[in-house]
Amino acid sequence: MGIVISKFGGTSLSDADGFRRCARILSRRGQRQYVIVSAPGRRFDGDSKITDLLSKGDDKSLSAVKRRFDEIARALGLADSFSFFPQMSKNALVSRGEYSCAKMMAEFLGLPFVDAESLFFFDANGCLLRDKTACAIRDMASRVPSAVIPGFYGRSPNGIYLFPRGGSDVSASIIASALRAGLCENWTDVDGLMSADPAICPDAICHPLVSFLQMEALARAGARVLHPDSLKPLMESGVPLVIRNTFAPERPGTYVSGSVRRQVRCVCAKAGYGLINPREKRVETLLARLDAPAFTSLSGKRLFPVPDSGALSMIAVFGLSRDALPKAIRPIAIAEGEDCIRILVRTRDSDAAMRAIHAKLLDPAR
Ligand code: ASP
Repeated sequence: MGIVISKFGGTSLSDADGFRRCARILSRRGQRQYVIVSAPGRRFDGDSKITDLLSKGDDKSLSAVKRRFDEIARALGLADSFSFFPQMSKNALVSRGEYSCAKMMAEFLGLPFVDAESLFFFDANGCLLRDKTACAIRDMASRVPSAVIPGFYGRSPNGIYLFPRGGSDVSASIIASALRAGLCENWTDVDGLMSADPAICPDAICHPLVSFLQMEALARAGARVLHPDSLKPLMESGVPLVIRNTFAPERPGTYVSGSVRRQVRCVCAKAGYGLINPREKRVETLLARLDAPAFTSLSGKRLFPVPDSGALSMIAVFGLSRDALPKAIRPIAIAEGEDCIRILVRTRDSDAAMRAIHAKLLDPAR
């Protein structure tokens, strides 16, 4: 199979049991592998992600981070835990979640630790230097056959630079792509790509196969299973991806590849949209941020939804025609794209609309 890249998300590594679970998964392998880790995530509803605590950066939050890492270190008998320097930049401090997690995982697995600072390079504007990064990754792989590497950050001329939130997925894809890996595994807390968010639609099913292009469109439309920017590097280098559940590793997950032709049926949503008046002053900038500009209301009026500004949700439906949409949903506007239909609804109506659409997706004859 060649080199395998295994990325573990924050929920998979939220406590000592999570570390043990990941180690069990990795121990079933014989081949060369690079393990990419996120910072520990939430252990239960209402818990904090380590990255959120580090971003706050106050004494109370940093003590909570230290306690979390110390608990894991103690339970696993590790010497390494969380440490930081008071004069660290904000980015450097936030990156210590991934850094400490990778250090501890490396010690736990008995593998070398390789710092992401020595592999990922950004320019002063935060653009990834792709060639320099790929060379550094290949050079590292020629010397270190297997390693644990923190995700989410790299180095810029101004110090540590962070990928966007959820960016460890992107780190893993870039490593897989630079090494032309045989497989990139993304271990998370769901079975794979679901037909809808199971918290809203408990009868959601897991799709075994999806194409890169559709997975990217779904991730951009709000399917939270992967960072949308993580698909392109894999697509370009032809490295297949599998999304799997750390809590149910016997399940096959979702295989994402360039050779899949069939479109899968899915519905997902993103909240926080508002409408802008196209005569507004900053309209040019705002329109440039539109996901799908051609929205029309049921009365035929053009509407311009923009993210991060209001109480509307954008539902993306893959695999149903406009005529087949359930009558019960109350759309404010609809846009028909090549790959999906986008529906703008009030956020308070979104879950009910998702459930009605999902029922139709699973049983188009109803
Ligand atoms: N720890 C970072 C976050 O919470 C990056 C990641 O998990 O991929 O966004």
